[in-house]
Amino acid sequence: MSFGNLNIIDPLCRALSKEGYTEPTPIQNLAIPHLLDGKDMMGIAQTGTGKTAAFVLPILQKIAEDHRAALPGVPRVLVLAPTRELAAQIDQSFATYGQFLRFRHTVVFGGVRQGPQVKMLSRGVDVLVATPGRLLDLMSQGYIMLKGVEFFVLDEIDRMLDMGFIKDMRKIVSALPQKHQSLFFSATMSRETGEFAERLLTDPVRIEVTPQASTLECIKQSVFFVDQNNKYPLLQKLIREEDMERVLIFSRTKHRADKIAETLNKNKINADAIHGNKSQNQRTKAMYDFKSGRLRVLVATDIAARGIDVDDISHVINYDLPNEPESYVHRIGRTGRAGADGKAYSFCAADERNILRSIERLTRMKVGVVEHQYHSETAKMAVGAAAEPTTPNRSRSMPRGPRLESMHKSGPRKPYPVRRH
Ligand code: AMP
Repeated sequence: MSFGNLNIIDPLCRALSKEGYTEPTPIQNLAIPHLLDGKDMMGIAQTGTGKTAAFVLPILQKIAEDHRAALPGVPRVLVLAPTRELAAQIDQSFATYGQFLRFRHTVVFGGVRQGPQVKMLSRGVDVLVATPGRLLDLMSQGYIMLKGVEFFVLDEIDRMLDMGFIKDMRKIVSALPQKHQSLFFSATMSRETGEFAERLLTDPVRIEVTPQASTLECIKQSVFFVDQNNKYPLLQKLIREEDMERVLIFSRTKHRADKIAETLNKNKINADAIHGNKSQNQRTKAMYDFKSGRLRVLVATDIAARGIDVDDISHVINYDLPNEPESYVHRIGRTGRAGADGKAYSFCAADERNILRSIERLTRMKVGVVEHQYHSETAKMAVGAAAEPTTPNRSRSMPRGPRLESMHKSGPRKPYPVRRH
């Protein structure tokens, strides 16, 4: 299947071939015909599947086929994303795929001055990508009106709900005109996500794909059982002794991310951290340095990492395991992209032992155990209360219990259903 077979117009096909994309990914094959057909959609797909192009291409095609002069502050397309990084990346995708089309696009998000954003909006805008808070701010000041929205995209709904954006999203939805096409995407499908989508979508087409079909198979997963106080020495040893070109480290908290980056730098290993407390400029700089190779190591929290789109990450290190087993899959999917071999190392202390068990149940894979200098048999053998999270941060944002239970009660299932034509 080629993009031409999907009836994608020539200016878009040219942009795609300039990017070196010759064949649609599974989600693009599944989604594009329905979206060109005007259908609402619920897509379950993670970053790395090509989901952005799956909605950007048909939207650009539709607005190009019905070209109109862009109006100040009245977009025809509204895309909502949970983080600034993701919003900026989606906006960049519109620019890349639409490079041979005439249309205006802009992105608005918090944490930076609103002046330049207002100026861009006043020049006219067809496509607006936004994070919810700044969008509502600008709407309340009269800089944005949603009455002209024909296409409404909600990306990473699950994360939006986790981040407490539900009220904001409701407000935004209530400002949309009656008639519009809605496209919702989520990496996971919880009951809450399903209910939210059901209320707002009309007769939607539902599609579901895995992170790249073979992602997990391309990634060599290893676990290092280690006590919390030995995690840092272990990290340093690995980075020093192994051939690690570009390493993404995940930590549980912002504070820990800073600490890890700081200590690595003290030990002459170039590192930076990105998380919600960093300014937009700091994050942009860290991302740029990481992409360009100036930084060998980037330390991130889950939320900040949502928007990281760097293709050749050689290693993902889970310094701390994530609360949600789904996040593990999402994290390690950052390596092993485009068929390259990636390595995912997970540090597991006693109080993370049950999380590792949940991950293995979800992925239906056993993670290989590595023997090493700091090996902790206590961590490896931990069961019962000792294997449960003990630090307050663990139970912080999302209660793990109910989601895990409901997942396993539903009985055996294939971990990543792929629906293909
Ligand atoms: P996404 O899932 O939207 O984050 O996309 C993941 C990566 O795949 C991005 O770097 C895209 O530029 C890239 N990509 C999107 N569509 C294609 C395609 N048809 N072929 C190859 N790569 C693609």
